[in-house]
Amino acid sequence: MGMLEELFSLQNKTILVTGGARGIGKAVAHRVAAVGADIVIFDLNGKAAAETADEIAKEHNCRTTSFEVDVTDYEAVGKCLKLAVEHMGKIDLLFNNAGIVIQKPVIETTPEEWNKVIDVNLNGVYYVAQQFGKYLIENNIKGAIVNTASMSGTIVNYPQLQASYNTSKAAVVHLTKSIAYEWAPYDIRVNCISPGYIFTELTSFVREDWRDQWAESTPMKRLGKPEELAGAVIYLLSDSASFVTGSELVIDGGFTII
Ligand code: NDP
Repeated sequence: MGMLEELFSLQNKTILVTGGARGIGKAVAHRVAAVGADIVIFDLNGKAAAETADEIAKEHNCRTTSFEVDVTDYEAVGKCLKLAVEHMGKIDLLFNNAGIVIQKPVIETTPEEWNKVIDVNLNGVYYVAQQFGKYLIENNIKGAIVNTASMSGTIVNYPQLQASYNTSKAAVVHLTKSIAYEWAPYDIRVNCISPGYIFTELTSFVREDWRDQWAESTPMKRLGKPEELAGAVIYLLSDSASFVTGSELVIDGGFTII
């Protein structure tokens, strides 16, 4: 094995990617497969998830499967995790990535909207991580988890107002650290990435002048591409990061430095 493979290979690993049907999850799943992993996708959109899983299997000659599952449904997550393990043999890694945004001033945000965002972005991350971690511990698998937080966990975005999202992502960063501490004795590493503005379906619907303003406010003067997050996720999941846990890797074109 060459040094490159030794550092970043995910060969003989299987990864569960939530929100993997499109956007960041899909781009990362492609590249994780390219460095050797088999892929399981959990997504609300079952049809798109199945299409993405097929596409990845063909392109990277690996095993893939997908499940239509809402990460806010604790029981369904448990059931699908069990089925996925039965189908794939084992799962070692998790990219806990599904998330949504509602852009509204806090005064106009209804409790239902607030709870929806917290449910997907925070509770969903916890539901999947908790049941996956339990599986790893019970089966003595030294796995790794990467949660998708956001720079919005640290800064307050503008001009769009999205307190529910920002709050949920700040919580994801601290959940990451808290679980990292609890599971360090089992050699299970838990880290998160905090992307800046990335051009995906999530951000494609917003007003064009806002997108221009986001690019202008980013020192690198552009939005990121989903595939620009893949190297960071592969690093955190690989043996290169064998002493890295509880960390937040910010990938934002410099947005948060000014
Ligand atoms: P997309 O909306 O492009 O993709 C998200 C995927 O997650 C979709 O396939 C969506 O399904 C799925 N999903 C949504 N809710 C659930 C649920 N309850 N259960 C299962 N799957 C679900 O988003 P991105 O790829 O842009 O975002 C991915 C992650 O990255 C999110 O956590 C987001 O907050 C975070 N992020 C994104 C940034 C950006 O600028 N794009 C910046 C920082 C962080 P469906 O299509 O059916 O809705």
